[in-house]
Formats: sequence, structure tokens, C-alpha cells
Amino acid sequence: MMRQYELVERVKSYDPNADEEALNRAYVFAMKMHTAQLRESGDPYFSHPLEVAGILTQYRLDSATIIAALLHDTVEDTPASYADVKELFGEDVANLVEGVTKLSKVQIHSEASKQAENFQKLVLATSADIRVLLIKLADRLHNMRTLHFCKKPEKRQRIAKETMEIYVPLAERIGMQNLKDELEDYAFKTLHPEAYESISTRLSFLSEQGREDVEKVILELKKDLEENHIEGEVTGREKRPYSIWRKMQKQNIPFEQVCDIMAFRIIVKTVADCYQTLGVIHTKYPMIPGRYKDYISTPKPNGYRSLHTGVIGPLNRRIEVQIRTQEMHEVAELGVAAHWEYKQGAHKEGKQYRWLRDLLDLMHHCSDPNDFLEHTKMAMYQDQVFCFSPKGDLITLPKGATPIDFAYAVHSRVGDTCVGVKINGKIKPLRTVLQNGDQVEILTAKNQTPSAEWERIVVTAKAKANIRRFIRTQQRERFIQLGRDMFNNTAKEYGISWSEKDLQPFLSQYKQETVDDFLASIGEGLIPFTEVFRLIHPESKTGFQKAFSLFKRTKKENVPDKKMPVTGLISGIALNFAKCCHPVPGDKIVGIVTTGKGVTIHTQDCPVLQRFSEEPERWLTVSWNNEVLQDKTLPVRIKIVLEDHPTALTELLSVIAKYNIPVSNLNTVNRSNGWSEILLDIEVKDSDHLDVLLQALRANKRISSVYRIKSF
Ligand code: MN
Repeated sequence: MMRQYELVERVKSYDPNADEEALNRAYVFAMKMHTAQLRESGDPYFSHPLEVAGILTQYRLDSATIIAALLHDTVEDTPASYADVKELFGEDVANLVEGVTKLSKVQIHSEASKQAENFQKLVLATSADIRVLLIKLADRLHNMRTLHFCKKPEKRQRIAKETMEIYVPLAERIGMQNLKDELEDYAFKTLHPEAYESISTRLSFLSEQGREDVEKVILELKKDLEENHIEGEVTGREKRPYSIWRKMQKQNIPFEQVCDIMAFRIIVKTVADCYQTLGVIHTKYPMIPGRYKDYISTPKPNGYRSLHTGVIGPLNRRIEVQIRTQEMHEVAELGVAAHWEYKQGAHKEGKQYRWLRDLLDLMHHCSDPNDFLEHTKMAMYQDQVFCFSPKGDLITLPKGATPIDFAYAVHSRVGDTCVGVKINGKIKPLRTVLQNGDQVEILTAKNQTPSAEWERIVVTAKAKANIRRFIRTQQRERFIQLGRDMFNNTAKEYGISWSEKDLQPFLSQYKQETVDDFLASIGEGLIPFTEVFRLIHPESKTGFQKAFSLFKRTKKENVPDKKMPVTGLISGIALNFAKCCHPVPGDKIVGIVTTGKGVTIHTQDCPVLQRFSEEPERWLTVSWNNEVLQDKTLPVRIKIVLEDHPTALTELLSVIAKYNIPVSNLNTVNRSNGWSEILLDIEVKDSDHLDVLLQALRANKRISSVYRIKSF
């Protein structure tokens, strides 16, 4: 096991200003916390966080990251809490530990392979700070190195698969090439032990056998460089079991063919040297057609630069050569997506690449660590949230999505019949905004139908479209019934007979397809009822007004609908409160059948009502349903002219608080001559409730005037 001083020395070797004292404390704290625990290998548990910290020192990470690595399992597996870590090591470290703890909950489920990419995104979104991801990757690397100690074969398989599908691509994305290669080979070994054995045996045999050849080719190439006065290094490139296996699978070719080509890399000083070296090689050896690629003049979208070529080289062997400068080499090794682009196929998401390139640039060029951290806050996927179904399926939603969006994302039937939700096992309101990693269980009921209210709390197009479609159908039914009621009631008042067939001859005149369409349009107020009624029964022309007032009265006598806050409506019709006057209980009101909206309730003094004066058939006599209203509140806006005084606003709010009235918005709209004009949105039960408040406000000496604004 690495000693305490060794770890500290390693960190200090690249960061002389590292917080040595804190590193020492973290070492001791983690050792104490894990004291009685053992790894499956039989080693003390503490060896694990220590190794993880050690891996991260190879990437020269700051002491907060190293400390967090030492502590990364304490919150999850020992009595230590977030608060303890925060108190002892500060918020930065505590947040890193918390991030890693959260990530440990992300587990891929057997059925979820096809969602691997979403899981990768989930991990990225959860690691708001890239250092969390780096710790997690180092953690995973050490767990993979010790995976053979794990006794349960299913667990080994699961972890290997998870590594391959989530962590390998992530390591690749953030440019930790060596770490990625190692993860990949361990995972390969676990998932396909026979293939791994056979390939690595043949590889070591080959390299044993071919070592001399490789050396000879390197010597030849070096001589070529020297003769042309180019300074550079030539190395042979190791082949890894997994990449060979992949090529065999993908191109369907045998081992020998994959391994036939020897691979070399030449690193020179300048870009000019790159091209000169290329020229030397192409002059001396026959080119293999189709192998030459200039990624220097045309870098890959991820920033990778190099010259690639293939020739029949020394010893008459087919060789491939990469030529690059030291700087290009570092980018390719550390750097990111270099291989991502061509190995992963066409996952082109420009935004991410730019972010990755920026990150890399910062890693290379940022001398100020704070500056670096500021820039590495995960910019990716900030507009998405990732949630699970109880079965572990991952559902990706836009930020701000609610359980109703989730329900519709699962299936429109689930959405339509949704009645409630459990989030992480607890019942929550349907308007709850979902967070990353939430487990969401939608509760449904057979006879439930979508509510119009939902349209305002969903963000996905799918949920919106479904709700709208449902409401349209539902409204149509109601409008048809309303239209029918209008005819029935009016005909009854006249003592004349009426049937739906009477409408048939007028369908084309009103551009209606069916009688139902016609009734719906009349119910909705798109076609004036009186006009049509007179067409059917010309004799009714006189005295119609009288009949209509009777019609209104019959409506008023309707049994109060138990669920609606307003009585006198036609059963089942959608109800809205007008935005022009914002009625509250206690106000005198009237209902207007509104195109596309059902019935809109206005205050009787609302100026908008004038617009409907020519259409008496759209007016409904309605009143407040006090039984339903008891606990409901409605929004009201008031305008207050307030003295500009340091305590004025506090006094105002304390008056409002006394009446237990919620304030949803407060806005200073005007300020002059020692007075401020304030708009206040509050929720009240009824007009009495409001009046009491207005009086109390008027009594305050800092308030010069208060009045209700009906239109907002
Ligand atoms: Mn761990």
C-alpha cells in the first residue's frame, strides 16, 4: 500500500502549493472510517480509495480532487456524513464526494444496453463538476483492476458491461486515452474471457517473434530521418487485445490480417518536419494506395492532427506510420475525442466537441487552477434531465419536465390515465419538476382523463399534443350537447317540435360536414344559434327574445354541478376565468360561451362584455358555488402607492402576512418624488377577503392609495 508521505510527495511534485495538512488529515480520516472493512480481495478497504487517489495523481489533479478521492466512499459506506466532510474539508471537497456518491447509484440494468448513451449523458449531467467524473473513472479503473476478486459471476458481468457501455466512452470523450484502454481491456477480459485469452496469447507470441523486426524497422526509419537531418523519435505502437478483436468483428477479417501490418509513430519538432518526414518516406518506400491522410491541414472535427500513411517499408513489410509533433501527440493522447470520431461512427454533436476542445485547451494552457475549474463546470446536457421508470428504464426529458411529461413519454395511455406520482418512493404533486436520477412511478386509474390544467405544467410537445387532442374531443362532445340543449330548450318553450334532421338542409350553407359538427359549432358559439333557429322555424321570429330569456332561466335552475366553482353552466363544459377582469367569488359575474374555450366568467362590470351585446345566445346566468369554493383561492392584482421609506415595504408585507394571503409576485413599476408604485399579485378566497385586506392596507400610514386592477 502506498504510504501517506508517498502520496503527499507525489502531489507536491507537481503542485508545490498543495494543501499538505489537509491531504494528511484526509488520509487519516479515510483510513479510520474504513478501518474495519475489507475488500473482497481481503485487503483493507482503505487500499481502494488510496489507489484511486494514486491514479489521479498521474493526471496531476489538484489537492481537492485527491482529498475527495481518498474520501470518496466514506459518505456511502461509513458513518461519515456530507456535513462531517464539509466541516473537516470544506464545501468544495464535500461536493465532490457527494457527486461521486450520487454517481454510484447509477447502475445499468440488464435490459438497458440500448440506452447506454443516455446513461453516459446521465453520468455527465450528474457530475456537474468534471472532477467528479475523473474521480469516478479512477474509482472504476481500480475496481476493474481488482474485478477478478469479485466472487459473483453475474456481478462481474454487470460491472464489466457497465464499464464498456458507460465509462469507456466517457473516458474516451474526455481524453483519458490510457485509462480508457485499460478499462476496455479489463472489461473485454471479463465479458469474453476466451477471445481475450486467445488474442493476447497470439499477440505476445507475435511480439516475441516480431520484436526483432520491429527494432529493425525502427532503426531503418531513424536512419532515414538522420540522413535528411530531421530530428525525431520513432516508436513501435503496441496493439491491444480489445482493438484487435473489434477490428476482427467489424471488418470480419482473421487475426493474422489485422496483425499483419506493423504500426509506428514518428514524433518530430515542427509541422514542416512532419511534411518533410512524409516526403522522405514516400520517396523511399512504395505507398499503399488509399492510406495517406493529412489531418494536419484538415484536422478532424475534434481537433486531432497527424499525418497518416501506409507503405511497403523496410524488410518489405507493410507498415503504417503516424507523423506528428509533440504537441499534436499530447492532444491525441490526453485529448479527447481524437479516436472518438472515427471509432464511434457518426455521433456528431458539435456542441459537445467544442466543449471538449475548450476543456482540453484549458487543461493545457490554464495556469490558474481557479480559472480552470470555473470553465470545467459541465456545460453539456444542462438542458436535459434523466429519470428512471421503476423497472430501471431511462427516460430523457427536457429540463423543467413534470411527472405528466414522464407519463406521456412512457406511453400516451399512461399519460391519459395518470392520477398521481411517486418520486423516489414518495407521493408528490403532479406539478413537481423532475430532477436528474429521479425514479418516477406513475399512478394511473382506469377512468381518469387528462385535465386541461395539465397543459400549463407540461413542457414536452408529446404531452401537450396528447392533452390538447383529448381536450378537443372532450370539448367537442360537450359543445354538441350544448348545441342540442339550446334547440331542445328553446323548442320546448315555444311548444314546437324539433329534431336534429331539421338541420340537415342547412349543412352546406354553413359549411358543416355533419349534424354533430353543426351542433358543436352552434354550441361553441361559432354559428349564431338564434339565426339557425329562425331558419328552421321562421314563425318563431317574433317573441324570440322572450323565449331566450326563459332559456336563460332554465339554465339558472340547473342543479349545481358539485365540482365546479360556478353554477349555472351546462354540465361538463370547460370553465375559464376571464383575464380581462379576473373575477373572484363575491364579484357579480356572468358567463359567456366563448369560441374554442367553453364558458368564460367575467365580472358584470367588465367592459369586454360589450362585445357580446349583439349575441344574447352566448350569455349564461351564473353564480358562485360557495360549497366548492371554501378552500380555493383566485389570483388578484392590486396596485399600491407606497411612501419611499426604508421600512415601508416590510410594513406592507407584514400587513399582508397577517391576513395569511400568499403573494405570488411583487413588482415596482414606478418610482418618483418619494413614492413608489407597486403591483402585487396575491391569492384571495373572495371579494370580502380582498376588501378586508384593502381596508387594512389603506389604514397604513406609509400607503397612500390601494386599488384592485382587474385587467392583467
Ligand atoms: Mn470506490
